[in-house]
Amino acid sequence: MSVLTEVLEFTVPLLIIEQTLEPLRAAGANGCEAFVLWGGRLEEHGRRLAFECAYVPEQTTSRTSDGLLVVVEGDALFRVNRAFYERGLILSAQIHSHPTDAYHSATDDAFPLMTLTGGLSGVVPDFGAAGRDGLSGWAWYRLIGPAEWISVDAEASITFLP
Ligand SMILES: [Zn+2]
Repeated sequence: MSVLTEVLEFTVPLLIIEQTLEPLRAAGANGCEAFVLWGGRLEEHGRRLAFECAYVPEQTTSRTSDGLLVVVEGDALFRVNRAFYERGLILSAQIHSHPTDAYHSATDDAFPLMTLTGGLSGVVPDFGAAGRDGLSGWAWYRLIGPAEWISVDAEASITFLP
């Protein structure tokens, strides 16, 4: 259990989508995946999580025989959490890009950066090439237990705010 397990609705300002797509597309131009982390604030007695901030953690990307690998070191993750904490935000979502299809790989399941039960993971296809118009093609998952993710539609709604 965590503070996020009671959340029924996640709200995402489109500005955060823009701020997320920019680094994803920049990395994609070099054939690399990338991660962006979102901080949000609990509202409505914990029933709603309003995302307020997109943060690009220091990361290294490499190509391996299994595909692309993104690594965010522990101290970089600590800095993200501290930056969010200082603003009263909770690290509640991770967003990352894939070269083609948007889905949660076994590696994605097992090694998330966002580890709070009830939090979200979004996967962006084609390195975000479709921009904001491609938003409906993003795949969304929710963490329900250690390395256990479900499709978010079944559990909660994600609302995009202009
Ligand atoms: Zn992935």
